[in-house]
Amino acid sequence: MKKKSKDILITILSITFYLVLLIINFLAYFTLSQRREKSFTKFTYQNLNEEYVKSKEKFPDDLDIFPSNYLEVVEKNNLNIVQKNRVELLRYGSTVVNQQRTGNYQNVLHSLLNTNTQILLNNQILSIYFKTEIEDIKNELMQKDFKNRRKLFEKISKRKLVEIEYIEDLLENSTDVFNDSLSANDMSVVSTIQSRSSTTEKLESSSKIEVDVNKNLLSRMIDLSQYLVNQLERMGIKNSKLLELNKNLLSLQENEIEREVLEKILLSQQYNLDNVQILLTTVKEGDSYNLFATPYIAKIPILPEINDNNMLEEYDVEPLPLQGGEIRLPIMMYHNISEPIPNDPYLLYVSPEIFEKQIAYLVKKNYKILSVEEFNSILESGVTPKQKSILLTFDDATPTHYSVAYPVLKKYGQTGTFFMIASRSLLNHQQIKEMSDGGMDIQSHSNTHAYFHKISSAAINEEMATSKSKIEEITGKPVTLLAYPGCSADYRSFDIAKNNGYTAAFSCGRYIDIKLDKKYYISRVHAYNDMESFVKMLSVGL
Ligand SMILES: [Zn+2]
Repeated sequence: MKKKSKDILITILSITFYLVLLIINFLAYFTLSQRREKSFTKFTYQNLNEEYVKSKEKFPDDLDIFPSNYLEVVEKNNLNIVQKNRVELLRYGSTVVNQQRTGNYQNVLHSLLNTNTQILLNNQILSIYFKTEIEDIKNELMQKDFKNRRKLFEKISKRKLVEIEYIEDLLENSTDVFNDSLSANDMSVVSTIQSRSSTTEKLESSSKIEVDVNKNLLSRMIDLSQYLVNQLERMGIKNSKLLELNKNLLSLQENEIEREVLEKILLSQQYNLDNVQILLTTVKEGDSYNLFATPYIAKIPILPEINDNNMLEEYDVEPLPLQGGEIRLPIMMYHNISEPIPNDPYLLYVSPEIFEKQIAYLVKKNYKILSVEEFNSILESGVTPKQKSILLTFDDATPTHYSVAYPVLKKYGQTGTFFMIASRSLLNHQQIKEMSDGGMDIQSHSNTHAYFHKISSAAINEEMATSKSKIEEITGKPVTLLAYPGCSADYRSFDIAKNNGYTAAFSCGRYIDIKLDKKYYISRVHAYNDMESFVKMLSVGL
């Protein structure tokens, strides 16, 4: 009896226990599915993609002149800038510079930091950081947490299993989510990257690091990492790498970026690639632009190619039609590169600011600014070149040619033709020699600035011969071009110039075409202190 009642009690207790368990299970299931309704919705990006692609197509900047720190960045890092780079920088606000000496990302980064160059954290670096971090997190979770949980829930809860599988899928595909919005270039770079360990190497503390990332791209990364954090938390998983990734991305968005975060992002690029280059990018700060450098892992060119066969393209003013027997080749004439000169009725000045804008405009439009040698070979060929070409001439060799024109031309990697009065130059021989050695062409503007139509043939001959030999002695280079003083010359001068070994001679005028039968009386147009007349002159003359 005692035993029997004990059995009954056990049975009742057992039934009660199972009932309670059933109720708890039911309640738990009910609550979980409620929560699941709220938080276990699939992750989507919706319309963000279209907006992002649009913002990527638009080129960031369209510069009038190079940023004020351009020369500093280029010289400090000994960058090999070519014409293509200059055109791209002015047109698109960024360019990739080839660096022969560099081998891997870390080397480039440290060479920039050693010269204390401002580093830019751009979209490419951020994308690589994000994708490689996610790759690491995925591997870690798959190996430990998900493996264990999968075993645990395989028998008890189908629902839990579905959740795990979903997160696994999401992690597996999360880097693909960004594939649509990354450029082909970013894609191929990212695809070469495998999981890697982080570095212990530190950055130079003096270097400045700027952040310039697409806000849309960044917010998408934050969305995904935040979503993953929430989902894992719900499953009772806390992944420190994921939390850190999320925290780092958030700090980028809030512009409260800690140095350590930037170091982590920059130095997470551990891989070696053959072709690490330097990306130069301009960033607008207030009204001015700043040039930043950043290592760049180039795979595919991302900018439109610069067209050198552009004689018939890209004019802001409809150009005159080309004529047979003529060469389209505007020749600009400058006098002072200075602020307005009081009581100057001829307006023979262009301010330093406008002058730089004019040179930058020519570079941006991919004009070939000719050396004397290049000019002579076009003249000899008798054909209009395929690339827009121009000769920049400066009369009288005034002090501003040395102090303003020469530095600006050097900054833009261009050359000028300076017509010097041999016997009374305002620049001393050292300055003339320095300009000549620096890639400028020094040519003849006569010996004494005598007006040729007012003097004898013998005197004209003397002016031409003496100036030629004097200037050649200073520069050690041939003098083949002559600019008539006061633009005045008569038919006698043409033969005398030819007999003295000049290949061409210049007057003043309104035309931008060279008539092949008038090489000793070529028209030059005067550049004035504004952009509008300058741009018009390039197409139609004065
Ligand atoms: Zn003159």
